[in-house]
Amino acid sequence: MGIGAKALKDNLEAVYELAKRAANLELQEKIMGLREQVLEIENENLHLRLKNKELEEGLKLKEQLNFDGRIYWLHKENGSKEGPFCQVCKDKASIMTRLQSYPYKWSCLVCKNTYEKAPEELTDDEKRKGILQESIRAINIHGR
Ligand SMILES: [Zn+2]
Repeated sequence: MGIGAKALKDNLEAVYELAKRAANLELQEKIMGLREQVLEIENENLHLRLKNKELEEGLKLKEQLNFDGRIYWLHKENGSKEGPFCQVCKDKASIMTRLQSYPYKWSCLVCKNTYEKAPEELTDDEKRKGILQESIRAINIHGR
């Protein structure tokens, strides 16, 4: 409840007391009606506030969301990067599904899509194994 609504309710209460003292039933009923209308407006106001918050958050998300050609990343205000998130889930159903890390790929547990990791997304372990496999391949080629 905003400050304006609180002041309005206090005023209504004061006017209601005056109407009661004056023993004016019709006026008392009118004031009761006004009270109900204030409550309705309050409810509507609350609903609009929530909707506004939702829209603001959606807008913020849109600003921070970056598609790198495969998957989505969130670039936070503090400079940190969050994610990645599934492109299919986001574009199809507007769901931000965090991708799970598997060797050399990202995997979505919701839509089951997989995305190949970019070289800079590989873990140290994946890089080491990759280099080892490259070496084995090179040895095999030379060995022939
Ligand atoms: Zn998905």
